[in-house]
Amino acid sequence: MATLEIHDLHVSVEAENGPREILKGVDLTIKQGETHAVMGPNGSGKSTLAYSLAGHPKYTITGGTVTLDGEDVLAMSVDERARAGVFLAMQYPVEVPGVSVSNFLRTSATAVRGEAPKLRLWVKEVKEAMAKLQMDPAFAERNVNEGFSGGEKKRHEILQLELLKPKIAILDETDSGLDVDALRIVSEGVNRVREGGEVGTLLITHYTRILRYIKPDFVHVFANGRIVESGGAELADQLENEGYDKYVKGGA
Ligand code: ADP
Ligand code: MG
Ligand code: MG
Repeated sequence: MATLEIHDLHVSVEAENGPREILKGVDLTIKQGETHAVMGPNGSGKSTLAYSLAGHPKYTITGGTVTLDGEDVLAMSVDERARAGVFLAMQYPVEVPGVSVSNFLRTSATAVRGEAPKLRLWVKEVKEAMAKLQMDPAFAERNVNEGFSGGEKKRHEILQLELLKPKIAILDETDSGLDVDALRIVSEGVNRVREGGEVGTLLITHYTRILRYIKPDFVHVFANGRIVESGGAELADQLENEGYDKYVKGGA
């Protein structure tokens, strides 16, 4: 069972007036098969956590550790993290001019699997995964992210998730900008990937809406750069009713 362990993680970004600490001691352990929802107000540092785990160069780790089965994730390059099984949809470029979805996915799969998937099998695999997400087959020939609608971007993320089969999947605001139908299709995709019990999911979200479709095992409240409260799914209901005020005002 793969386990991602985040211990006392501190992260800074370079701001105009010098380095600014965004993450102030994050502790979180995610095991394969578990789904953890991290919920918090805007600007609390949720995306910073996602980017830091993915190895984005803008974020400087100033303290703490991140390990996957005891291996030092922070010492790994972005590619090494992907190969080790840590998946973050956003770690890929926003737009990749001249590269089709199909080729992009094959390159990613090659990086993760350590060898290029056989072309004929691969085409079939992609087709099947796209059909499950109710995507038009023509989508595979489009350039990555070029003119994608919000919903198409999210489906493309879930398509990567289905095909790359990571050990730990980090989904940052996957629900944002989706209408109800797209949200349902995307959530079903996440649930299919979860079903095998082989992926641990870090589901970062501002709103509780997506948790109606994807039931978390654990809910964590994130405020001011750290996790300030943890509980079960019932904590999300409490947040739905009460909002984040008490966590923000308390200066947690
Ligand atoms: P969230 O995802 O919870 O909305 P973010 O992680 O995006 O929060 O941002 C947390 C804080 O860090 C915000 O105040 C944001 O302005 C700041 N921040 C994040 N990334 C950068 C960056 N690259 N440069 C400067 N400030 C940043
Ligand atoms: Mg934000
Ligand atoms: Mg964010």
